[in-house]
Amino acid sequence: MSETAEQKPQQPMMSGWPARLIWLLAIGLAAAAAYRWHAIHWGQWVWFAAFIVMSMLRAPHAATYRKNTIVDDRNDRPERIVLAAMFATMMVLPLFYLATPFLSFADYTLPNWATAIGAAVQVPCLWLFWRSHADLGRNWSPGLEVRVDHGLVTNGVYRSIRHPMYAAIWLSVLAQPLLLQNWIGGALVVPAFLAMWVIRIPKEEAMMRAQFGQVYDDYAARTGRVFPRLTAR
Ligand code: SAH
Repeated sequence: MSETAEQKPQQPMMSGWPARLIWLLAIGLAAAAAYRWHAIHWGQWVWFAAFIVMSMLRAPHAATYRKNTIVDDRNDRPERIVLAAMFATMMVLPLFYLATPFLSFADYTLPNWATAIGAAVQVPCLWLFWRSHADLGRNWSPGLEVRVDHGLVTNGVYRSIRHPMYAAIWLSVLAQPLLLQNWIGGALVVPAFLAMWVIRIPKEEAMMRAQFGQVYDDYAARTGRVFPRLTAR
């Protein structure tokens, strides 16, 4: 058994008033952005619509997550920093950019075909985001945590890749600079998610290995991280 099994059960992170405050902030900014509809370019509308859909897909999972009891919490300082950076660059800054005129000094303009690529990417992105949440079910968490009764999911979109949700987030992150066309509100998310990817993936896989042992090793041997494995190991 893992050495973590004896750890004391804990409350999940991001519960209580900080989570409510964060949601109030996001809803307020989203409402202000919608109010400035005349100043918003079509690619920015696509981003905004996808953002609302992703938030709605995630909301029920966030609600059930708060009822989890955590047995292994690996949210160390670097993890909390990259999570905060993602929250800032994927949610607060883009909404602030759309809701106010203050970041427009950092605008750039792309041709329509580039904006269209960003829009088209939303289709596989939203599908994968939806399916990965559905398949992961109660095992989803915003940070690195194992809950009581955690099960290893190896079916659905997890059958051939280990990180379908991060694959969906990669698509969203790469589309954001194409759609928003602003260095601060749009493009900053790319280095933020790259940092999260580099910092989180080894820790997440080590945590899963500590929890599920050989079963996870076997699963890792037949899957890829975001692209299916082409050759059997
Ligand atoms: N990396 C996955 C999951 C992201 S959510 C993806 O990109 O799809 C992060 C949480 O999911 C982690 O804290 C871990 O507890 C859990 N997790 C990751 N892979 C899992 C799996 N195959 N089965 C069950 N839980 C998993």
